[in-house]
Amino acid sequence: LPIITPLVAGNWKMHGLLKDLEEARHLQALLTENPAQAEVLLCPPATLIHPMTAILRGGLVSVGAQDCHSLEKGAHTGDISAKMLADLGARYVIVGHSERREDHNETSEQVREKALAAHNATLCAIICVGETLSQRDAGWAEKIVLDQLAHSVPDGATASNTVIAYEPIWAIGTGRIPKPEDVAVMHQTIRDHLADRFALGDQMRILYGGSVKASNAHILMAVPNVNGALVGGSSLKALDFNGILDAYR
Ligand code: PEP
Repeated sequence: LPIITPLVAGNWKMHGLLKDLEEARHLQALLTENPAQAEVLLCPPATLIHPMTAILRGGLVSVGAQDCHSLEKGAHTGDISAKMLADLGARYVIVGHSERREDHNETSEQVREKALAAHNATLCAIICVGETLSQRDAGWAEKIVLDQLAHSVPDGATASNTVIAYEPIWAIGTGRIPKPEDVAVMHQTIRDHLADRFALGDQMRILYGGSVKASNAHILMAVPNVNGALVGGSSLKALDFNGILDAYR
């Protein structure tokens, strides 16, 4: 089996003011004191990307964004391009989070264009997929996720420019998590798709996301083909996020 460096990524969503940069500083201090066998990433709102990179420079925590436009520049008021994010020091960008697919009606095709824009700006794209509860109850979860992967992941994806995040929508922010067996089935399904489609698809990281916290991280991160986590609520406080990283210590 290939050796994959896990990635534990925090998604701050629309949370975080300048004063909250203190949490990023604290996380970095905790990691420096007690390193984890994983890459660690924080994705704050766009407003905090630049000051956060300044605080974290040269340390163990990378900075990423939560979305980008699919074009490099142009007449798109209020949007931010991948190139602009890279210019600020971001190294990753989340694309196709379920909240954007829902709030902004983003389609998988648009998500693929965003991922391509990320690649062209030398950012690593974290492409999110996941089913709703009614889709799971109907037995369609694997089919839905495979369809999202087919349309959201660009053909030029590699193990270094792309990370997949499987996030069952019903597990996001709810405190509910799937059974580890169900996570294993889905991650194997995703792995098979990636290995069939991409030369090094067996090395692409597949994150689990949805109500990950310190108390369940060990179990979830031990599931085969789970190569890290995408964490919302529990990434806002350094101590909570650091507790999740214990799964990799
Ligand atoms: C997320 O938004 O990507 C997420 C997984 O949120 P939470 O950890 O809060 O469920």
